[in-house]
Amino acid sequence: MPTPAEDPARNGSTGRARPDPSAVATTASPAQARPGLAQLATYVPGAAAGTLAERSADGRTAPLASNEHPLGPAPAAVAALRDAADQVGRYPDGAARALTEAVARAHAIDPRLVLTANGADNALTVVGLGMLHPEGEAVVPVPSFAAYRTASLLAGATLRTVEIGDEGLDVEAVRAAVTPRTRVVWLASPNNPTGAALSRADAQRLLDALPAGAALVLDEAYAEFRDDPALADGIALAAEGAPVIAVRTFSKAHGLAGVRAGYLVAHPTLVAELAKVREPFALNHLAEAAAVAALGDTEHLEAARELVARQRPALIAALEARGVRVAPSQGNFVWADLGVDAATAASRLLDHGVAIRPGGAWGRPQHARITVGTPEQQALLLEALDAVLPHCPTSTGAPQP
Ligand SMILES: *Cc1c(COP(=O)(O)O)cnc(C)c1O
Repeated sequence: MPTPAEDPARNGSTGRARPDPSAVATTASPAQARPGLAQLATYVPGAAAGTLAERSADGRTAPLASNEHPLGPAPAAVAALRDAADQVGRYPDGAARALTEAVARAHAIDPRLVLTANGADNALTVVGLGMLHPEGEAVVPVPSFAAYRTASLLAGATLRTVEIGDEGLDVEAVRAAVTPRTRVVWLASPNNPTGAALSRADAQRLLDALPAGAALVLDEAYAEFRDDPALADGIALAAEGAPVIAVRTFSKAHGLAGVRAGYLVAHPTLVAELAKVREPFALNHLAEAAAVAALGDTEHLEAARELVARQRPALIAALEARGVRVAPSQGNFVWADLGVDAATAASRLLDHGVAIRPGGAWGRPQHARITVGTPEQQALLLEALDAVLPHCPTSTGAPQP
């Protein structure tokens, strides 16, 4: 019997057989992406919430792998999304004036310092393409967010990778990696996955080390969860005229990861240049409407902050009581040394409806990044860890898949 692909009757009126799709993979001379891309890896996201619900035996789930906030978006942001749906037949405002001005108001800065983006990830790519070039260097801390490496390599820059440690930020190591060719120093504060954040004094030490024209990129995706007054604020530094590019997102504290909205704050002349790199309608109409509404609901943001302020110490204490070493964190997540192979633990936790992020991708096979959740989610996590951890092997140190 002919397969559908071979059956001429199923291939339109010409009777000509369509090519077998599986044969495409073996084409003799496919077009090839540029050679530098071989150094890049495809981003692997954490387990999706839907997958978890399927795996959970009793319907309880704890999606703690992607640092999303359990409260989700403000009701006003969801309402704004619904209202905005009627207008998607038209292009969005390319300059995203409503959000640019709302962000400027929220931080009491001039709107010319603000460039909106299709999520912080998009802002990081814009920074990489707008700041870096093949003659320049990028200082890339590890373990940290993978996008810095990607954005740097896309621009053809030379990477200077620096170990910053699992507890605290080794700022001296970052400083030592700066050379006269440095164009960008990437730093997340709080750092993902470790939770460590940059003090004002250390930010100044880094700024003092930068050559003229270079930028300290402070990725502040988790800024809203910081509670140490000695920490640097990237937006304040940029507003004071320091060569800082602060990057923020609506994905974490504002609970809008699914709509993709973020922005950067930098000197207005740099913002004007970077605006040329960003695609014309980067921020879609729905995302802009939701983000503006989210900024307007300060009560919801405060509730999101309070939940983390309560639950983060509870999570750390409960993990430490189980002999798990946890780094101090300024984010809505903790970096825990499980003492066993974390990839094995994470995959067994899925059967309990629990998702955490194993550290193999960061070269830390016994570590895991665990998002701060609700009391119920954390109770499920701890119950599942108690069931799973005693039976997990220690890591062989082999690279994770
Ligand atoms: C989650 C995260 C981002 C990505 O934010 P999006 O706006 O969702 O692209 C950027 N930086 C860090 C450090 C993050 O953890």
